[in-house]
Amino acid sequence: MNKPGRRGGPRETASESSAPGGMPSDFSREHFKALIESSDDAIISKDMAGNVTSWNAGAEALFGYSAEEMIGRSLLVLFPFERRDEETLILNKILAGEKVENFETVRRHRDGHLIDVSVTISPIRDGAGRIIGASKIARDVSERLALTVTALQFEAIVASSDDAIISKSLDGTILSWNAGAQAMFGFTACDMIGQSIHLLVPRERQAEENDILLQLRAGQKVDHIETVRRRKDGRLIDVSVTSSPIRNTRGKIIGASMIARDITAQKRAEARLQLTARVFSSTHEGILITDANGLIVEVNESFLRISGYRRDELLGQSPLMFSSSRQGPEVRATMWAQLSATGSCQGEAWSRRKDGQAYAGLLSINSIRDNAGRVQNYVALVADITPLRAKQEELERLLHFDPLTKLANRILLGDRLQQAMLQARRAQQPVTVLYLDLDRFKLVNDTYGHDIGDQVLVAVSHHMLEVIRDTDTLARMGGDEFVVVLQGVGTAACSDALVGRILRACARPVVIGKLVLQVSASIGMTVFPDDEADADQLIRHADQAMFIAKREGRNRIYHFDPALEAGIQLRNVQLSRIAQAIVTDELVLFYQPKVNMRLGTVTGMEALIRWRHPERGLLPPAAFLPVMQDDPLETTLGEWVILQALAQMSRWQADGLRLPVSVNIAASQLLLPDFAVRLGLLLERFPDVDPGDLELEILETSALHDLHAVAALMQACHALGVHFAIDDFGTGYSALTYLRRLPAETLKIDQTFVRDMLIDHDDLAIVQSVIALADVFQRSVIAEGVESMEIGERLLDLGCDIAQGYAIARPLEAAAIPEWLVNWQPFASWKDRPSDP
Ligand code: C2E
Ligand code: MG
Ligand code: MG
Repeated sequence: MNKPGRRGGPRETASESSAPGGMPSDFSREHFKALIESSDDAIISKDMAGNVTSWNAGAEALFGYSAEEMIGRSLLVLFPFERRDEETLILNKILAGEKVENFETVRRHRDGHLIDVSVTISPIRDGAGRIIGASKIARDVSERLALTVTALQFEAIVASSDDAIISKSLDGTILSWNAGAQAMFGFTACDMIGQSIHLLVPRERQAEENDILLQLRAGQKVDHIETVRRRKDGRLIDVSVTSSPIRNTRGKIIGASMIARDITAQKRAEARLQLTARVFSSTHEGILITDANGLIVEVNESFLRISGYRRDELLGQSPLMFSSSRQGPEVRATMWAQLSATGSCQGEAWSRRKDGQAYAGLLSINSIRDNAGRVQNYVALVADITPLRAKQEELERLLHFDPLTKLANRILLGDRLQQAMLQARRAQQPVTVLYLDLDRFKLVNDTYGHDIGDQVLVAVSHHMLEVIRDTDTLARMGGDEFVVVLQGVGTAACSDALVGRILRACARPVVIGKLVLQVSASIGMTVFPDDEADADQLIRHADQAMFIAKREGRNRIYHFDPALEAGIQLRNVQLSRIAQAIVTDELVLFYQPKVNMRLGTVTGMEALIRWRHPERGLLPPAAFLPVMQDDPLETTLGEWVILQALAQMSRWQADGLRLPVSVNIAASQLLLPDFAVRLGLLLERFPDVDPGDLELEILETSALHDLHAVAALMQACHALGVHFAIDDFGTGYSALTYLRRLPAETLKIDQTFVRDMLIDHDDLAIVQSVIALADVFQRSVIAEGVESMEIGERLLDLGCDIAQGYAIARPLEAAAIPEWLVNWQPFASWKDRPSDP
């Protein structure tokens, strides 16, 4: 309510301004006037006819009429119709000289609204005491009344409000504090009334609160400012505050109300929403939202970028518009089924951009349901993984295909072969694996260059593709090697015919410019499941067979033999077991003495290998040497034996025993090109051993392999000082000329002849002729296998004095040799033999 100001001049006529109690002085007259003018109450005088004679500012403020309007007018204008009677009542009292005091009634404002007033009316008398009018003082009590009427209601509202409703003085002192304020800030009314509102304000907001107070003092309302306030527990809360000035009845600002609402949750929700919005707009992945019917309702920037469409082209459309022909409808159908069943689905799908280009999308779709569980929206996240896919496909190609011929490479071949084998097992049909190597292809490369070579490879691969079937696989293994997998070729004849065609396809002339080139192929072949192997092994077997095809003259097919392979495998197991035995020191050398029977002297020892097998006991050489034949391990072992023998000689020497030792040498070792060099190195490691004390026993049969090479080798070893004996002599049927060319010092008569010479004339004859031969060629002779005194006697009679055999000593461990040397006695009959029969 806007009340008019109190300035302005006196509005009453001079005649009514007299005060009761005689003529006032000029001063008191002025004073009264000021008093009446400044009063908030309406002070009015009227004559006995009821017409207004004075009207102060308070009256103007209360009733809305100015003094000019009211002076001379009937006061009845202020009376509501139903209150007209009151005027007569009041008049009668005045006429009776009575005063009407604090009479509460209702009057009408100039604008028509009713005002509750409390009225005091007194008679005005002239100097002679006659009543000439009445004064009327009216006070507006409508606010007081209104307050009493609504106070309870208002208090209830304030008490039950969740908002904090606080009133404060203009300096910020809290005057009232409702339950909402207590709940919001944690302080009780008791804590806060009389305290400064600044208590609730964080330090950095103090200025803001001061600002609010300033505005309130200026009569301005502070509407819905969002700020932060502190609770009793120190926690900050977001609040929305509205403060209004509180005025008294006359409009004077006497304080302020403050209504605060906790908007922390709302703020948080807003922040979350903002974040969501930011994520939505800034995420790299495309986001597409549809309604329950699957029509697009929202897409983000990224989706527009990925799809190439404008927003308005998409809204209201179905995502089916992105379907790409790069995949069947089943991909989307599967995803849809999963989405319906579980509420979400993930997968990869090809989609189409606006320009028609296909792109690979990694999709994740979720359905959003309302509280009743009904689908409201679907949200799809789309990551464009086209570059990734492209790279993957490229890698796949590099990984699985040969860049030159575009044929499958060995990796893809492995897969295909495995699949073919699976299918073969199910269908009980064979799989044929061919390993194919072009013959003398190196010559093409060397003669015409690699470019031409490459073109030949491509041409030949095309020729082969023409004869195989779609279900077959042709792969390039690298270089000029190919593998063909033929699936389900029924009969052997059938497959032979097909393989024959492949062989001929390889041999077809290749025309490159003016050049006409022709190559051929060697093919190794194996058939699963006859060859019950895994994919890798099948290829290896075909490869092995291909080698044999080459060895047998090229341009041909060779069938792999699984039975043969089984033997080879067993051998491999055994070989690796022996290799292990060398490392773990399970092999050991025994020594068998060689003696001069006539003189009773010891001429040396033969080193014989044994295997102390942890499970099978002491094994003779026959139990494991044959397995090693022609394997590289044989030469490894051979070197080990020489090394052990030399070490033993060195040890005996240190013990004062000088014993020549002979060592058996396998044919393969003998044929090593650097045998002599390696022997030299071994001898160097034992400088105390005289190389002349080392004798190498070579089998007559192995010497005959390559007489020329063996003779050269023996010469080289002679240069080192090493001697040779030909072992098992007589079993190899060597021609006399051969013997002449082999520079061996000693012939060792094979024990099979010696053993039976007393009973078998043929054997005796052989023994005799070997002895004679040695004599002719000036070689020494030694008989092995002397099992009895009698054989020894006979050998002595024949002129063979040196011997070795069980009758003299069995092969002994090295440690047993010194004792044997001390104890050994030749048979008396040997010593007594007359020399030279
Ligand atoms: P070898 O070189 O002819 O050795 C003589 C074999 O006759 C030895 O058999 C020996 O124990 C056996 N022996 C000796 N005196 C008699 C006898 O009076 N009666 C009978 N029945 N046998 C006798 P061992 O030790 O079983 O060796 C067999 C063959 O194994 C050797 O025949 C030799 O060719 C080969 N060998 C042994 N050790 C080695 C070696 O270190 N390296 C190579 N490459 N071959 C070896
Ligand atoms: Mg021997
Ligand atoms: Mg022998």
